Amino acid sequence: MNPGRPVPPPLAKTISLDTTGSGPSTGVLAAAYGATSAVSGLVPLTVARREPGEDDVEIAIEFCGLCHSDVHATRGEWREPPYPLVPGHEIVGHVTRVGSAVEDFATGDRVGVGCMVDSCRECDSCLEGLEQYCERGNVGTYGAADPRHADAITQGGYSTSVVVDKRFVLRVPEALDPAAAAPLLCAGITTYSPLRYFDVEEGDAVGVVGLGGLGHMAVKLAKAMGAEVTVFTTSESKFDAARELGADHVVLSKDADAMEAANRSIDVIIDTVAAPHDLNPYFRTLRLDGALFQLGLPADDMPPVSPGLLIRRRLAYAGSLIGGIEETQEMLDFCAEHGVASDIEIVGAGQLNDAYDRMVAGDVKYRFVLDTATLQEPSERADA
Ligand SMILES: [Zn+2]
Ligand SMILES: [Zn+2]
Repeated sequence: MNPGRPVPPPLAKTISLDTTGSGPSTGVLAAAYGATSAVSGLVPLTVARREPGEDDVEIAIEFCGLCHSDVHATRGEWREPPYPLVPGHEIVGHVTRVGSAVEDFATGDRVGVGCMVDSCRECDSCLEGLEQYCERGNVGTYGAADPRHADAITQGGYSTSVVVDKRFVLRVPEALDPAAAAPLLCAGITTYSPLRYFDVEEGDAVGVVGLGGLGHMAVKLAKAMGAEVTVFTTSESKFDAARELGADHVVLSKDADAMEAANRSIDVIIDTVAAPHDLNPYFRTLRLDGALFQLGLPADDMPPVSPGLLIRRRLAYAGSLIGGIEETQEMLDFCAEHGVASDIEIVGAGQLNDAYDRMVAGDVKYRFVLDTATLQEPSERADA
């Protein structure tokens, strides 16, 4: 099991905890890094993980990807989150214990956890396997009240362990490198799901706007599905990188002539840019019945969309949110089969704050991944 990387030592023994109102009365303490306020940066913390219940899987976390939404969440840029907050929803590790009703996972299995750890399980979305669109709201992997566990606040994967209901645990194929597989759990599924929803297949033309964590996965996945891929970028400096990832064409989006030359050349666009930007030039690159999926969530309003463009080519302007559990498993298996993984830079706990600053500056190719074996290291900003 787990070839290529030593198995971490067993988790700490069960410890009785001083409960703080919402936490479990018994559980396992796990080393973690998280924010204690919007300005604290990431500092060493200890989180209490519940004792595995009958449906639970206890996971020793090996790697956790750093998602841009982790930065927004810990800095309170979307809303005031509950602090302390341990981020991380691109989790890969191995099973250390399972509950009595868990049959599909066993100790030692390589597993993953993505952006959610539960949902209502009974609304129309949940019954269709679209837990991300749960009508009562899915339970996020961090910073969310967990109704099935006394509304304890979930804490994410910048940590040495986590306990998750079996329904929300993914099987990570052994063919995938565990560190490079971690970003598949958010960046991978977020781009895979709209490509599948649009039914992208051999010969389709896919456009990708933005070449960050999501965009680079969109290029790789679309290529693996047999598509012809065009990357739209605002920076000529990204041309070589786009081609290295497999893009067939690269278009400088601020060059009006280049955009005009791309008129009616694309079937579906995956737009990963989270800053407000004008979509109308991209609609002009779409063919009849094309679609643009917007995946980034800008904090400010977007420039208006021209209805005429949509009407004259029967275009769809759509959004998409991660993917369901079944589809996430399908994506992992697809990636293993096609040799697709994220391009990553592994960081230790002491580099997390720098990594956040570099993510904000767009200075990463293309995803940071935390090696959780480093979690006991002190933070350079622990006294901030
Ligand atoms: Zn994410
Ligand atoms: Zn539901």
